[in-house]
Amino acid sequence: MTLTRRDFLKVGTIGGAAATVFGFDLAPAYAQLRELKIARATETRSTCPYCSVSCGILIYTLGDKAKNVTPQVVHVEGDPDHPINRGTLCPKGASLEQDILNPRRLLKPQVRRPGSDHWEDIPWETAIDEIAHWTKKTRDASFVDKDKDGKTVNRCEGIAFTGGCTDTNEFNYLIVKTMRSLGVCYLENQARV
Ligand code: SF4
Repeated sequence: MTLTRRDFLKVGTIGGAAATVFGFDLAPAYAQLRELKIARATETRSTCPYCSVSCGILIYTLGDKAKNVTPQVVHVEGDPDHPINRGTLCPKGASLEQDILNPRRLLKPQVRRPGSDHWEDIPWETAIDEIAHWTKKTRDASFVDKDKDGKTVNRCEGIAFTGGCTDTNEFNYLIVKTMRSLGVCYLENQARV
């Protein structure tokens, strides 16, 4: 039997309702589960990096008390004492743990060559050299200093940049500064900077 996401939500809702009707209150069990999950963890206060709302978060890590153990994030949640969000997080902020631990996270630059049907890993040095080369070449070829009425516009019409939802505020700040200094008009990011 295949279970769609919608079926799964329906089953979850019915299960929750049935548990209440038949006298099972699962709230204490969920609370206990949370306590078990973070029982031996270290709590660190931080700020969600995803947008300029800057919600407060609590990050729980295991294993950072021994010298030879790499700390492992086991749980992230909204900080109830934070004046901005008072413990709440939007869906993106609530998924922070998966962003940190996601096994599909890309750790190397990738490129899809013209005519190719797949992406290939390339070294950081190659990526930086190629980006610099193509940015210069494209900007030189597409820069418009004056519009048709002779007004100075200094815009680069051949380059567009779009940021991803998991780019941080700091990354987006640098991107906006860099792209504006190149004259790029077609620019979008999620941080509203
Ligand atoms: S992305 Fe969401 S959780 Fe993060 S700071 Fe913005 S509103 Fe808050």
